[in-house]
Amino acid sequence: MPVVRRPLIAGNWKMNALQADGIALAATLAERFQARPNANFEMLLAPPFPLIAKVGEAIAGSGLSLGGQDCHHLAKGAHTGDVSAIMLADLGCHYVIVGHSERRAAHAETNADVSAKAAAAHKAGLGAIICIGETQEERDTGKHFDVAKAQIAGSLPDGAAAANTVIAYEPVWAIGSGRTPSPENVQEMHAFIRSQLATRLDGEEADGIRILYGGSLLPTNAGELLALPDIDGGLIGGASLVADDFWSVAESCP
Ligand code: PEP
Repeated sequence: MPVVRRPLIAGNWKMNALQADGIALAATLAERFQARPNANFEMLLAPPFPLIAKVGEAIAGSGLSLGGQDCHHLAKGAHTGDVSAIMLADLGCHYVIVGHSERRAAHAETNADVSAKAAAAHKAGLGAIICIGETQEERDTGKHFDVAKAQIAGSLPDGAAAANTVIAYEPVWAIGSGRTPSPENVQEMHAFIRSQLATRLDGEEADGIRILYGGSLLPTNAGELLALPDIDGGLIGGASLVADDFWSVAESCP
């Protein structure tokens, strides 16, 4: 029987939203999601750390999932400014995003760092959304498959499985730029990612892992991209901050 992967529509709010706006956005989405008990997609909100508890309250009982945008690889200790996976779980989070390209670039996170964070997420009972993706230069010089291969090999911890891991393919050049790869290029990369997962995991697990597309996923292109066979949802930045846009992307799930 073919594996069924329920699409995940994940909103990465990044460093945006103060309390009032964040709670209002979360409450609107919670109301819409609750009115769709048989929605064919899972929806996740990943607000900035200070809003997680309040957003959690605003979406309680709605069926929406809650997540963090990063975590430390250790559970506790002298790490000023950091937040551990177990703290996120304690606040009711279901997921944490790790290895976003903005963190890889601005905080010099390596594949090994990302793998350790994903392992910490698993240990805390969270799903790890592991981000990968090439830069413009890597794409222009035809290195994008090699980059994806190395990022998967280095960022996926032992124990990764369909139940605890999601991959987000986010070409760095597409994030926030309004540009996306062609649907053919997206499908080709997602199929390649799945083939790489199959080199590490047994067939059913590799088939069951959801692979999200991220990078300027908008109401205008979501229908075309989310319909591709190896695209199992999206990781959405800008459009996740506007309830109508985010909802419209989600409703594009086939
Ligand atoms: C992101 O940064 O995860 C992202 C996909 O951003 P945007 O949707 O704004 O391109």
